[in-house]
Amino acid sequence: MHIKYNLKPASERRTEQFKPETNVGFGRLRTDHMFLMDYRDGQWADPRIVPYGPFEIAPGAMSLHYGQSIFEGAKAFMHEDGEIYTFRLDQNAKRLNRSAEIVCIPELPEDVVEEGIKALIDVERLWFPMQEGACLYIRPFVFATEDRLSVSPSQEYTFCVMLSPSGAYYSNGFDSAIRLLITERFHRAVTGGTGASKAAGNYAASLRAGKAAAEYGAAQVLYLDSTNTQIEEVGAMNHFHVLKDGTIIIPKFTDTILKSITSQSILDLGEQLGCEVRQETVMLDKFIADIESGEIIEAGGLGTAAVVSPVGSYIFEDHRVVTVGNGDVGEHTRRIYQVLTDIQKGKRQGPEGWIKRVERVAP
Ligand SMILES: *Cc1c(COP(=O)(O)O)cnc(C)c1O
Repeated sequence: MHIKYNLKPASERRTEQFKPETNVGFGRLRTDHMFLMDYRDGQWADPRIVPYGPFEIAPGAMSLHYGQSIFEGAKAFMHEDGEIYTFRLDQNAKRLNRSAEIVCIPELPEDVVEEGIKALIDVERLWFPMQEGACLYIRPFVFATEDRLSVSPSQEYTFCVMLSPSGAYYSNGFDSAIRLLITERFHRAVTGGTGASKAAGNYAASLRAGKAAAEYGAAQVLYLDSTNTQIEEVGAMNHFHVLKDGTIIIPKFTDTILKSITSQSILDLGEQLGCEVRQETVMLDKFIADIESGEIIEAGGLGTAAVVSPVGSYIFEDHRVVTVGNGDVGEHTRRIYQVLTDIQKGKRQGPEGWIKRVERVAP
């Protein structure tokens, strides 16, 4: 599909490289343009790059009422050659379609999704923040636009990609390790539900749990399966732990876990990380006992935004606290972070196809 460009006049857009003096933070800024594509009459059409701005949407648009909406999250990085490179974007396009299938959104052409994102980055390349650890955060999303009050799949959709120039997630190395709340009160997903989809409604449903976590001084909830016996994942991150012998364990991907591309990358790297990486069903009782006996020495979350989020302790609803190792960031956690971010920044060779250059083609 041919991408159309309807760009802002030069006087209204960034014309020199973005050189912020302080960390621009994560997800706050926007760029000048966005990528759009519409679904009408049974097909995706009209891929285009237009000025970033508000949508006109019918009050009866089905996404507003019935939540038919999905999203993705990815990052692009500048390498030492001054060019911008995406990281495993094909995996995001693929997962977008997995999410789409789960909430009955018509399949998107993955090549157009990927090309559209790269074309948008190309237009916005001067927005890349020239500061250590920066990225362009990529937010693709799809929502139902048909004006109809009926709980059924919409016949019309909009696909949009916006970019957010973002600074280093950890500006002074890792912050201290976070605490997670382990609770039986809230669940993120059930078998046969929408947990394996980045469906917008999943995140609305997690807000109450997030509030409960905050009341316990925890950053987030560590979700259990609906029988409260297995560890699943964190609100927007997968979970991992490290055994005494250095083995990294990630809970098995099931239909109640969102398959993280960060987790998948660690599994794919395996040996290259210098240790064994495997997936298992993680039983809560054994997990806690193994932390207490010293068999488990590190734990954390995995996701695009932070890459790795070290977990120092878990708290239960009765206020019992279980500390992992000495509660600080461990060496394995640091190594995972270093290897992945080095590949993303082009400082270390990653597997074939992970890193793709954004070509200079914009008019
Ligand atoms: C996005 C997300 C993740 C992390 O996935 P990445 O591809 O690594 O960013 C994990 N869990 C949930 C619930 C998510 O929404």
